[in-house]
Order: sequence, then C-alpha cells, then structure tokens
Amino acid sequence: MGRANNGGRPSARSQQRQARGLLVVAGVLCLALVGGVAALFSLVASAESAPAPAPTEDGFVDIIQDDEAPAEPEPPADDRAADLALDPEKQTDWKFDGTGEKTVYLTFDDGPSDNTPRVLEVLERYGINATFFVTGHEPDKAHYIKDAYEAGNSIGLHSMTHNYGQIYVSEEAFFSDLEAVGNMVKEQIGYVPYLTRFPGGASNTISANYCAGIMSALVDDVQARGYQFYDWNVSSGDASGTNVPVETLVQGSCVEGYTNVMLLFHDSNTKDTTPEALPQIIEYYLERGYKFEPITREAFVCHHGVNN
Ligand SMILES: [Zn+2]
Repeated sequence: MGRANNGGRPSARSQQRQARGLLVVAGVLCLALVGGVAALFSLVASAESAPAPAPTEDGFVDIIQDDEAPAEPEPPADDRAADLALDPEKQTDWKFDGTGEKTVYLTFDDGPSDNTPRVLEVLERYGINATFFVTGHEPDKAHYIKDAYEAGNSIGLHSMTHNYGQIYVSEEAFFSDLEAVGNMVKEQIGYVPYLTRFPGGASNTISANYCAGIMSALVDDVQARGYQFYDWNVSSGDASGTNVPVETLVQGSCVEGYTNVMLLFHDSNTKDTTPEALPQIIEYYLERGYKFEPITREAFVCHHGVNN
C-alpha cells in the first residue's frame, strides 16, 4: 500500500501545526505593529518636547543641527572681509587701471611697531585710511594689526621674517614665509588677505644673490595663487636712514603728475619722523583734490619692472 495517502489533503495534525504557526506569526505581527505605533508616538512626543529650532533671518527653519553641519571653512565675517580675503577665483576681476579719480594710497611697510598707534592717530584725525603691509618682527605688537583693520585700514602681507637670504632662496621658501605671515594676520583679523608686497619690491635685485630669476617666477606665481602684489610709484624716502628729517620726507612724498599715488612709508621703531611728516603730506594732497583710500580690489595696481 505504500505511504499513507489521504487524497493530497494535510492530516489533522499538520493542520493543527499550521494553525499554530499562523497564530504565532499573527502574534508577532501584532506585537510589531503595536511596538511600531508606540515608537512612532514616542518619536512625535520627543520631537514636540524638544526645543524647536529657531527660524533663520529669511524665515526658514534650519533643520541641520550644529553637530551634523559639514566641516567647511568659515565664510568671511562680512562683505569687506569677503572682498579682501585671499580667493584664487577672484584674480580675473582685478582692475589694473584704478578708478581714474585722483587718489592717494598711503602704504606702511614693516610694522607693526611702536609707531603704529602714532600713524593710526594721524589717519583718524584726518578721517582717512591707509594700508599696512605687515611682518612678524614683533609678535607682542601684533594686536596693532587688529586695531588698524578695525579702524578701516587694509592689511596686506609683507613677510614673516623679511630675511632676503631666507625668502628669496627658492619659491618654496618664499611661499612658506608668506603662509606664515598670512596665518599671523588671520589670527588678528579673521582671514588671510590677498594683498601682498614683496620685500624690496618686485624690482629688487638683492634676490639675485640667492636665486637667479626668482622674482620673474614669483610675480606670476603669487597671482596664480590668488594674491596680488602692490609696488609703489612714489617713495617718501624714509627707508634711507633712521629718522630722516620731516622736510625730506615731505619733499619726497609730495609730487605732481600722478592720478593715482601709491606712496611708500615704513612703520618701524626707528622711524619716528614718518608719523610726524604725515600731516603735511596729507594736507598737500587734500588741497589738490585727492582722496585717500585703503587698497581694495578696485584700487590702482602698481607693478615695478622685474630685474631678476
Ligand atoms: Zn620691507
């Protein structure tokens, strides 16, 4: 007779087993459903009890929590910072012919120093602004960089060490120094500015003692990296010695024939006569209809010819 055959229908026992199995499955499903609904309610409840995120200025609620925000570089604090911050994307927008208006850009290299507050006092007295190309000479006076910036002056990078034998040995050495002074400035004003001035200017020949052709390479490379360098077309002559007489500085600074004057001074402990000469120089240009501006991206860009 072979194996038991009940016409293909399951036996009573196996039907019982199946029914029990179905009951178990249904029970599990019920539990899952109840659990899910409970979990959902607890989620809603916790969402309601959590403090609601504050709407942003444009009225949208920021649903990204702080601890989930992607790590991106901090955006510059304001429009001025955004304009003056180093940004390789902006190099094509630079204007090389200025605004065409009679403008003097007073520039002070090598600070900060004990004379920085004296220079700032004169600028404030006349309600004008200038540009400071700073160094890392005196770390304990670095806070003057912040003071100068907050008073409306532009901050540019000159050099951390100002040591020709160190910075002009190679492009790598130059940019390592530039990065250091950039970081120092960032600590004071919150960003690395795009403005630079080469120690000795782009026309210097001293660099040839350390690396032939380095200035030719650097003038292109600083711009390719998003910096712009500013040489000068008028020099006060205050670099020619310690405390050069005021009359000599006034004579050197007050010239005719330029629409845009990029005027070189030095901010140094040994140059007390520079802030003393400033009022006469400022008045000379004011009387001739010039305005005074800090360097920005709209400013005249003065480049010397390169000699190395
Ligand atoms: Zn210098």
